[in-house]
Amino acid sequence: MTRIDLRSDTVTRPTDQMRRAMADAEVGDDVFMEDSTVNSLQEMAAERMGKEASLFVSSGTMGNLIAILAVCGRGDEVILGSLSHTFLFEAGGISALGSVHSCQVPNQSDGTLRLEDVKAAIRANDIHAPVTRQVVIENTHNRCGGVVLTPQYTRDLAELVHSRGLQMHLDGARIFNAAAALGVDVKELTAPVDTVTFCLSKGLCAPVGSVLCGSTSFIEKARRLRKQLGGGMRQVGILAAAGKVALTDMTSRLAEDHARAKRLAAGLSELNGFHLDTGSPFTNMLFGTLSDSVTGDARSIASALAAEGILVGVTGERRFRLVVHYWIDDQAVQDTLMAFKKIVG
Ligand SMILES: *Cc1c(COP(=O)(O)O)cnc(C)c1O
Repeated sequence: MTRIDLRSDTVTRPTDQMRRAMADAEVGDDVFMEDSTVNSLQEMAAERMGKEASLFVSSGTMGNLIAILAVCGRGDEVILGSLSHTFLFEAGGISALGSVHSCQVPNQSDGTLRLEDVKAAIRANDIHAPVTRQVVIENTHNRCGGVVLTPQYTRDLAELVHSRGLQMHLDGARIFNAAAALGVDVKELTAPVDTVTFCLSKGLCAPVGSVLCGSTSFIEKARRLRKQLGGGMRQVGILAAAGKVALTDMTSRLAEDHARAKRLAAGLSELNGFHLDTGSPFTNMLFGTLSDSVTGDARSIASALAAEGILVGVTGERRFRLVVHYWIDDQAVQDTLMAFKKIVG
């Protein structure tokens, strides 16, 4: 049975073209900065994000961790969203490894942090308080349903952040999905921030890796931190080669995933047993809840769907997340709808 895996876009396998590029990649020792494929990926990434320099890292988690450790010292404070990936899902790395204190500002349902809330969270110069150094935002916002932050919002927040002498980091794991949904160049979303991380390995299909981008001096610092964290790799052009294909071939097709997510949502919204979240999907992920009429919880329904060859994410007692990506074609959308109809009615 074909497996249709809608649990996440992290499940994407590399394309045939990526596998060929990996096999043919020129490599060198990247700790010596002698891997030409890595160097070329980093140049491409910096150019796409409109930053001076960039650094290939093993994961988005490492990229965000380095971005914060480069700015916040021991006991300093970073302001981030209460539902942010960095706060919820990065194993507390900033505190465990950097002794960085965090202040969680409530994420609004549209993924934003209210400017008033951020303003109020910035510490006064007072020996009782930690020193605020940085604000982190996330676009698209995973936990808020894959919602998109606009260029205007990003500029407004950056203006506040910079006026107070702080730095701004963007967790842009899915920043190309945000740009595709808005129909803007990704630079519109990255220009206002100092640093940005984006994932090559989600909707862009590369097997491994993220890229951290910023100024030349920031990346110099970041390179040392990456080494300190054990993330300096050697002939890693093998992986960067897939990342280059991701940047050249995969960013422009993300609107297809969004269109399929909308078709999947339209079908699901016709079922009595399934209640789609308002507005969902905003990008490539859709969230919904089982109706009261359905007996059984999300876990048991997910098992029944798995028996039909369909894997979905369970995010609550009665809640699901379905993520559309490169390996979900029109047939997969049809098959998923058939299975949901059969199982939840
Ligand atoms: C996936 C993701 C990351 C990084 O995850 P890794 O699995 O460490 O690559 C960071 N932020 C967001 C919003 C993500 O979805």
